[in-house]
Amino acid sequence: MIIDGKKESALLREEIRNEISLLKKEKNKVPRLSVILIGDFLPSQIYVNNKEKKSKEVGIDSEVFRYSKEVKESEILKKIEDLNNNKDVSGILVQLPLPNQINKEKIINAIDPDKDVDGFNPINVGNLASGYKAMVPCTPLGCLLLIKKVEYNLSGKHAVIIGRSNLNGKPMAQLLLKENCTVTILHSKTKDLKSECQKADIVVVAVGAANLVKGDWVKKDSIIIDVGINKIKDKIVGDVHFGEVKNKVKAITPVPGGVGPMTIACLLRNTVECFKKLNS
Ligand code: NAP
Repeated sequence: MIIDGKKESALLREEIRNEISLLKKEKNKVPRLSVILIGDFLPSQIYVNNKEKKSKEVGIDSEVFRYSKEVKESEILKKIEDLNNNKDVSGILVQLPLPNQINKEKIINAIDPDKDVDGFNPINVGNLASGYKAMVPCTPLGCLLLIKKVEYNLSGKHAVIIGRSNLNGKPMAQLLLKENCTVTILHSKTKDLKSECQKADIVVVAVGAANLVKGDWVKKDSIIIDVGINKIKDKIVGDVHFGEVKNKVKAITPVPGGVGPMTIACLLRNTVECFKKLNS
């Protein structure tokens, strides 16, 4: 089974659109997502334009504040403070990466945890790790939703996650632990990636190394989620060797068209969650 992330994302966005029209009737307002974009890094501009477009499609009021790459950290912190205090703003997102003069940790810490649609603020990270209600980073949340489309009950499954970033690997591990999986996290210092992967019922790969996971690394009937985005010449490929793996396993996400579309849908979902919490 090839997991169709585009289709699942469209279904989720349709659900969100319906929920927003109900919320609009009930509260007489809609969620607002405020995005801060610094500099002219092309991929960031593309991501932000896409986020803005998809937000509008589901009825989220979206605004983008653009700054030059020389902007002072204090100016961004002041903007975040204003957005934190603005009752009309449901979600705040600062597009990463940031220029060198701006301290990422300070920025992430400054965002009100209740408006932290990316789920990067340490309060949300801590709540997730403690098993409490938290804003969850969009990409791992999207991965979990895709896994659960294939198999709803994950209890007792052995999940192997390759990559331990704050963005992907670590929150993915917490989510799967909460689903009662036995979780193993692999990284660049792991001695034998292949033999660890071979034991897995679920593999989530978030590394950024083209075709890292080969056909003989995976178990029959496993579920493979490929987060990686790598450019080879003009082609985008994942971290999994799709051609070698796809016929061996129960389900696999393609790249592109797998995890990517779910990330944006989950951002919209998180914005609605923030709105509901702030307006309850
Ligand atoms: P990251 O912060 O660079 O983290 C990469 C992780 O992979 C690190 O934990 C690193 O280990 C590990 N690693 C690197 N080389 C390895 C190797 N040879 N074997 C095993 N582990 C290795 O990356 P990220 O932000 O998590 O992103 C990972 C990939 O996902 C990238 O391709 C990115 O473009 C993509 N991505 C996709 C989406 C989406 O929506 N589809 C969203 C975000 C990111 P150490 O910790 O030991 O260094």
